[in-house]
Amino acid sequence: MIPLSLVRHIESALTEISGKTDRIRSCVRIGGGSINEACRIEWANAYYFLKWNTVARFPKMFEVEANGLRQLRAMNTIRIPDVLKIGESETEAFILMEYIAQSSPDKLFWEVFGRQLAELHHNTNDHYGNDHDNYIGSLPQSNVIHERWPDFFVMERLVPLVKMARDGERISQNQAMRFDKLYTKIESFFPPEKPAFLHGDLWSGNFLCNANSLPVLIDPAVYYGHREMDIAMTKLFGGFDTIFYDVYNQHFPLEKDWKKRIDLCNLYPLLVHLNLFGSMYLSDIEITLRHFV
Ligand code: ADP
Repeated sequence: MIPLSLVRHIESALTEISGKTDRIRSCVRIGGGSINEACRIEWANAYYFLKWNTVARFPKMFEVEANGLRQLRAMNTIRIPDVLKIGESETEAFILMEYIAQSSPDKLFWEVFGRQLAELHHNTNDHYGNDHDNYIGSLPQSNVIHERWPDFFVMERLVPLVKMARDGERISQNQAMRFDKLYTKIESFFPPEKPAFLHGDLWSGNFLCNANSLPVLIDPAVYYGHREMDIAMTKLFGGFDTIFYDVYNQHFPLEKDWKKRIDLCNLYPLLVHLNLFGSMYLSDIEITLRHFV
């Protein structure tokens, strides 16, 4: 199942990492991802996690993912899988990681997750953005530095995706004009916050609950941003357990009216979905535009 062109690269990586000579004993496909192929590999009595895709499809995607995971890991708050190797053949690229065995989230899991995300967000900076661009899902994400959150949110998050949606005829001229109106008002909606280090794509598919019931973050789209972006994203498809929000708030209280901005923040992931998956996300975008403009 692993593309033949990659097998040699992966075997030599595993030999180096494990210090043991073996062959790939099993490769069990793992579903659930939306972009790449993934499997659990068995080598010298241990498991590893492998993802791959064609080189040409998403240039430097795994390099950028590894960078994001390293940045998150350096914050020393939430667990992050160890990136063991990234590499490519002429046609395929791969990322090899520590395999995370999983269990079901319990109360303690949500408490720890709430506290650790608050700790992650306590890592602040004096500007918004990051030192490299990355991906959100499979769309490029610009992290050009800005001094002010409203500028960053408009210029690097909304404008590029509204343009993409307009170019792809996914939104009308009228809807694009509503966004223009929204941009002039954004300033008044967000209370000032220091730029916080964000996971950047914190929906329920991007964390794991490990065998010790502790949270592990995967698939980051990291940048320094307004922390309500991460919190809002957790609410996009159903929301996390209420304990998570209670504990987060105890450790790093949110503004009293943060809930009013959930839909505003989520315009960004909704635009991502609109551009990637189509018009079923348009009505939620319209409702938000009508509310804020
Ligand atoms: P994609 O890049 O296509 O979105 P994901 O990173 O979401 O793929 O991974 C695909 C599947 O593998 C998901 O079900 C995810 O939960 C699981 N997964 C991701 N990283 C690991 C890991 N280090 N160990 C075990 N399972 C993982």
